[in-house]
Amino acid sequence: MRILALNCGSSSIKCALIETATSRRLAEARIEQIGKSKARFHAGEKTRELGESTSFEQAATILLEEMQGAAQGLGAIQAVAHRIVHGGERFIQPTRLDKATLAELDAVSELAPLHNLPALACARAAMSFIPDIEHVAVFDTAFHATLPTRAKQYALPKDVVDRFGIRRFGFHGTSHSHVSHATAAHLLTTPQQLRIVSCHLGNGASVTAIEYGRSVETSMGMTPLEGLVMGTRPGDVDPGVLLELMRSAKMNEAQLNDLLNTRSGLKGLTGTNDMREIETRASQGDEPCRLAITLYSHRVRKYIGAYAAVMGGVDVIAFTGGIGENSALIRHRCTQRLEFLGAVLDEDRNRDAKLSSAQSVAQISDPASRARIVVVRADEELAIAREAAVLLSQRSQPDSLRIPVAVSARHAHLSQATVERLFGEGYQLQVRAPLSQTGQYAAQETVTLIGPRGKLAGVRLMGPPRGHDQIEISRTDEFVLGVDAPVRISGDLNNTPGITLEGPKGTMTIPNGLITARRHIHMSPSDAERFGVQDHDTVEVRIDSQGRDLTFGDVTVRVSPDFTLEMHLDTDEANAAGIERGDKGELEERGEVEGRITRK
Ligand code: ADP
Repeated sequence: MRILALNCGSSSIKCALIETATSRRLAEARIEQIGKSKARFHAGEKTRELGESTSFEQAATILLEEMQGAAQGLGAIQAVAHRIVHGGERFIQPTRLDKATLAELDAVSELAPLHNLPALACARAAMSFIPDIEHVAVFDTAFHATLPTRAKQYALPKDVVDRFGIRRFGFHGTSHSHVSHATAAHLLTTPQQLRIVSCHLGNGASVTAIEYGRSVETSMGMTPLEGLVMGTRPGDVDPGVLLELMRSAKMNEAQLNDLLNTRSGLKGLTGTNDMREIETRASQGDEPCRLAITLYSHRVRKYIGAYAAVMGGVDVIAFTGGIGENSALIRHRCTQRLEFLGAVLDEDRNRDAKLSSAQSVAQISDPASRARIVVVRADEELAIAREAAVLLSQRSQPDSLRIPVAVSARHAHLSQATVERLFGEGYQLQVRAPLSQTGQYAAQETVTLIGPRGKLAGVRLMGPPRGHDQIEISRTDEFVLGVDAPVRISGDLNNTPGITLEGPKGTMTIPNGLITARRHIHMSPSDAERFGVQDHDTVEVRIDSQGRDLTFGDVTVRVSPDFTLEMHLDTDEANAAGIERGDKGELEERGEVEGRITRK
């Protein structure tokens, strides 16, 4: 596919027309220093001044005109891929852009104002300039969808986290993903064989721990402010400092925003965010510039060590981005004293490392170094174009068979009579959260299951009450309780065992109803038609979960007009397939992977 990738940064737009089948750049152009007097357009040999008043929309239009001209004779542009830094909770995976999606993205843009606002302006300009083809947003957060909960979550109260959607997302995903693939290809292996600490050091900067192909920890958090020292952002700051500035300097939100996004980092320390200038001034004895280099490299080194600890070791330390690719001095300082990790820099190779389109990865470690140190040429445009192509090729398949996966924790459906035995006469279940299937909800109430061997407390009730009691547990729960729960589809309770239930107002033993839920997919009749399946068909579903791929057999199809397309697995099954459980609710948590049906 010929895809035009538009990579809009905080002060620049880079674009490239890419033939994704061959990864070839057919044409490229860029505009730098947008909004400044030094704003400049570059395309091959061509270059021209643009002036301070050129907006992002205008810059995008200039580039699109250039690219359309360049594309003539190469074949039409088939789609445009846009890099969008933050898609909030809702947009993680590549997404087709339309007016509604743009409006939703506007709403989350304050989470990454430096980047999202210009990128969305660019996207709008491009969509009106080339309206008849697909426009796809690729999010910087996507690669970090694999972050485990321990790396994703802040230690804040659950109600605050849930109410405001507070979590770590991570950024520079396309760049870190490219680093992992390009490094593995250079070392004649696959990302699944390597533990990589990837350092993207550009104007924005972040480090990611990529453990056998998956992002497991990353230095940017809910917004691109956390972590490393950056061009104009400070990275890690004690949150108490902000409270202090609000208290003593009476800073308001806008002032803090400005301080943290545009006046800190290298610029705050030295007056400029240009590392070249900082290095030059440091070599002439400028103290603030010397300090900036020390602080900058110390922070990177600290993260490298921490991420090696997170992964239990490191095989590759990779540098990319404007500073990572070009500054031998910063690479030297960041990798000093890392011998204990088995990483030894070769000073000559480091100094002489030169990247080009022909050589996109250079090794700069000593040949005897156990861990390799490499420099990788950033190619975010290629990574964006590739991700968009994957989405578009799925869409163009006549019968795309992807389905979302939800994970069900142990739970109980009770009759109203049983509810009253356990919670008191006339008791009505209280709604805690609606489930994806119409009318169903997770109740606020929980019960304790008591088996011959052990107990399980906090088992969530589902509402509304049903005609029969039905308790759904996993295989692991069977061991804890000391019971056998046959694998059954919901409602098929003949010859199932019972169990003792304990509630706040009573205990009772139900005669039957204890099951392990049979794997199943809910779908509407139109979904069934699209998939070519019928109610009660048995299918296989392949889960591609990066590192724990698994094909589930014996999956029952359930069709009803009330159903929303979703496969349900229990926690044991989800763990076996490496499906990350989300942070919301306790019964149905959407997996971060999708399944693909293959008919038996
Ligand atoms: P962005 O995050 O905006 O894409 P880049 O990846 O282009 O930024 O990185 C910009 C940074 O790279 C600037 O601080 C610039 O000074 C620095 N840089 C570029 N070339 C060199 C060089 N030869 N030596 C040191 N720093 C460099």
